[in-house]
Amino acid sequence: MARETLTEPSRQTPVLGEYDVVVVGGGPAGLMAAASAGRAGRSVLLLERYGFLGGAGTAGGLSTFCGLHARVHGEDLRVIHGLADELLDRLGRQDGLARPHLTINDGILAQAFDISLYKLVADELVTGYGARILFHALAVGVVMADDDRIDAVLLETKSGRMAVRAGMFVDASGDGDVAAWAGAPYEKSPGVDGMLYPSLMFRINAVDLGRAGEAPWRTAERLMDEAEAAGTHHFPRKKPIVRPQRNPLEWRANLTQLSNPDGSAVDGTDVVQLTHGELQGRAQAFDAFGFIKAHVPGFEDSYVVDLAPQIGIRETRRIVGAYQLSEDDVRDCRDFDDTIGVNGWPIEAHVAGTVDFRWQRQPRGFNQLPYRMMVPRKLANLLVVGRCASMTHAGQSSARVTGPCFAMGEAAGVAADVALATKVAVGDVDVAAVQARLEQEGAYLGRSDASAVPGAAPA
Ligand SMILES: Cc1cc2nc3c(=O)[nH]c(=O)nc-3n(C[C@H](O)[C@H](O)[C@H](O)COP(=O)(O)OP(=O)(O)OC[C@H]3O[C@@H](n4cnc5c(N)ncnc54)[C@H](O)[C@@H]3O)c2cc1C
Repeated sequence: MARETLTEPSRQTPVLGEYDVVVVGGGPAGLMAAASAGRAGRSVLLLERYGFLGGAGTAGGLSTFCGLHARVHGEDLRVIHGLADELLDRLGRQDGLARPHLTINDGILAQAFDISLYKLVADELVTGYGARILFHALAVGVVMADDDRIDAVLLETKSGRMAVRAGMFVDASGDGDVAAWAGAPYEKSPGVDGMLYPSLMFRINAVDLGRAGEAPWRTAERLMDEAEAAGTHHFPRKKPIVRPQRNPLEWRANLTQLSNPDGSAVDGTDVVQLTHGELQGRAQAFDAFGFIKAHVPGFEDSYVVDLAPQIGIRETRRIVGAYQLSEDDVRDCRDFDDTIGVNGWPIEAHVAGTVDFRWQRQPRGFNQLPYRMMVPRKLANLLVVGRCASMTHAGQSSARVTGPCFAMGEAAGVAADVALATKVAVGDVDVAAVQARLEQEGAYLGRSDASAVPGAAPA
């Protein structure tokens, strides 16, 4: 990156408005935080750099919800509820949700969704609770009120640079942008044998199911593995995912792995590496698609209908907050007195060339998520949610998926309301009050029988 600097002229920045809560980032964590704070009656502004919500789910083209379910004592149950129930109901009513399917060697359920409808129902959920959205608004910095309080977030838009003030901020940027600007401690895994590798997702259309036969996703995986073993083709990532969507004419493909020339993972906070990743991702996607089209029955007339708008970033900054969720917490299905939700996804480590899965060691199949993982050090009016919350590298390899991000976001919206109402710092929030409110609203915190929660049985 550039070493030379210049001094910009100082300027007067217009203040767009003052809100109770400003949320930065409209991924699964941020959209739930905004809806939740809006539901609590707070004035809320959700800032999103793109023109739609959903985060990696839409901009990264994932098209599958992971972490909504857990394998609980041998039974597959949905364990993420509350506002997620409402979002899923809205998607279901629009016919935008597939039935949950078994994945990762049939170890757990995931659920495919229609990307366009997810954008629509996320808009409806957030605005339906009175939160305001500002699209095409990239947060670029903060102005501090004092050492531990943020006064305003600065943003760049096509209308120019602006500021927005708030009593409480939620960093749902995925990259911990706000936390880092405000001086909160954070960690980043090393690029080689550390940070999870990104991928560019794409979707294939016009698959002929009649010709594809039984479980054709297994055929695609097998043929790719055989070609790799025979040395006739090299794929940058083993354990490919090629699966049908709600309409099985259309398939999603998760086949790429993006790295720098030195083998390190592309870092989603480095613009030069991001650019390299986009170029490499497109090349890898069409290379893998070419193999599938040529070799997998049913794909002869298929084509790539969509490359995700951007490469999907799995890990960058993780704040070091009041508690870091760890691999042992996940695999030992640990409980926390300050639980605000649960996570049943295994450790899913995107290491060089492949994906390592490490499962829960306890039959209950999920851990609780402590409130403290959203509380950054040194800051009184910021909560950090989603994949940049306070987790170790391995803990994040599990709890970064959509289900726990939904849970963190909903909890942060309630906690922001409680902090504002009681005029306390985020670290001093009455967690019991947050928990009571969340359970009243239908969220599942792992404190009761998961199978007894309405909607637990997969629809
Ligand atoms: C390739 C890939 C495949 C994956 N597959 C799955 C899967 O199948 N299922 C699953 O559940 N999870 C999957 N994941 C995990 C996924 O990352 C998480 O589920 C989830 O999206 C993380 O949510 P988040 O809200 O923390 O962050 P993100 O989803 O990253 O959302 C962050 C949002 O903030 C916005 N933003 C960032 N910085 C700024 C800024 N400065 N100003 C304004 N806006 C900003 C972004 O545009 C984005 O909308 C996958 C991830 C990747 C990368």
